[in-house]
Amino acid sequence: MWTWHRASRRPRRLERASLRLQPPVCVPAHPALSVVVLPGRAGGPMQHHHSGETVVTMSRSLMATQWAARLLVVAVLCGWSGVSRAGDAGGVSGVDNSVPASVQAFSAAGRSNAAIEGRRHIAALWAESGWHLVKAGEYDRAARAFTVAKELAPGEASIFVGLGVSAHRRFRDDLALAALEHALQLDPAIGQAHALLGDVHVRHGALSAAVRHYDAAHRQDPNDVTVQERLLNARQERDVEARFDRLLSPHFVVLYQGEGTREVAHEVAERLEAVYDEIGRMHGYFPDETVTVRLYPEEQFRAATLTPAWARALFDGRMHLPNEGIRTSAETRDRMLKHEYVHAVVYRLSGGHAPAWLNEGLALFGEGGASAETGDLLARHAGDLEPLSSLHGSFLGRPQRAASVAYAESGAAVRLLIQRYGFAKVRRLLEELSSTSDMQKAFERVFHERYRDFDRRLVSSQGGRG
Ligand SMILES: [Zn+2]
Repeated sequence: MWTWHRASRRPRRLERASLRLQPPVCVPAHPALSVVVLPGRAGGPMQHHHSGETVVTMSRSLMATQWAARLLVVAVLCGWSGVSRAGDAGGVSGVDNSVPASVQAFSAAGRSNAAIEGRRHIAALWAESGWHLVKAGEYDRAARAFTVAKELAPGEASIFVGLGVSAHRRFRDDLALAALEHALQLDPAIGQAHALLGDVHVRHGALSAAVRHYDAAHRQDPNDVTVQERLLNARQERDVEARFDRLLSPHFVVLYQGEGTREVAHEVAERLEAVYDEIGRMHGYFPDETVTVRLYPEEQFRAATLTPAWARALFDGRMHLPNEGIRTSAETRDRMLKHEYVHAVVYRLSGGHAPAWLNEGLALFGEGGASAETGDLLARHAGDLEPLSSLHGSFLGRPQRAASVAYAESGAAVRLLIQRYGFAKVRRLLEELSSTSDMQKAFERVFHERYRDFDRRLVSSQGGRG
């Protein structure tokens, strides 16, 4: 957030910078413009007037973000003077980024054609920055940018699609649904909204609704191969699920096949409700949306999930469990259910952005800690632990031995993290990840420790060499 600085300190050195600007309609009112970069100055851009020349000053770091700099200069030029009206006697005015104040200030600037055009232009720039932020995985900031754009141009359907994307990526599907439905009301031909609605419905297991939306998106743009692929997958999944019977408990939909498995389904639903409470207390998280669980005979489980023989279950947004895993000892069954349910919690809290080591480490922690066997394994492999950054992707492609070491290392990393910072901070990391997919950045924001320093600490805690 930009803060308002009175220009009491004069910069020692000024640096003129060139900035590529698309001239907005309101520029002719300002005959001359300079952009001045103040080295080292924090805070937001300011507008000065010197004998007919307009000077906008901003920090080097802000200037480095080209789109932000461009946006703010245009905003200042278009008369969006923000707090300047709040009264600065020295002829210096600033721009405040607090959304309601700036939008109000801009709206107060007038209803002339130039003002309306200017508003539209600024809305488009905010939306453009929103899309940049979506691309960079900064979904909170993207949502804020689209919110400003929406205030300035409430009739623009694509802005609501942007709001929908950023909400969906943060797992706020209630907001995503509202924004996307609104986009379709404004422009029924906006295929992107249909495609995203398909994604929202897939996540909630409403496969028929998903197929309907993907179909609409596909009809609007038959050449979009990603929509085509999503449509095919959703159709396939819908047809697969039609072959299952279903059992509903308050927080789970358990899909099973045939009379013989009904008892197993009951047992799974009952145990999962207990796990929901236990893991919910651990994470302080009790989601309302149901989790879908599919039960299969072992052979079908392998064929449906394409997992290697060492994998005992799978979570990919739904839980996939082989019946045989449930029928072994009560302890094994409960460990498996806790493990997979932690994955469901981590998936939702982190918006699907948790790296594999964090995800698996938390699941091992949730199922009741590492076994003695894991400790031995880790001790034997202490010298060749992998950096955590190479444990971000799924372990499923690894042979059994390498996978076991990766799991053991993940468990140790999460235990060390909890020991050092407490569980609440680790939970905070998951939330941080829901608004950015950049693990390094999220880690450093939450723990104030560099990601790779923690990595070294982990290796030395296991007796290996950093
Ligand atoms: Zn797992």
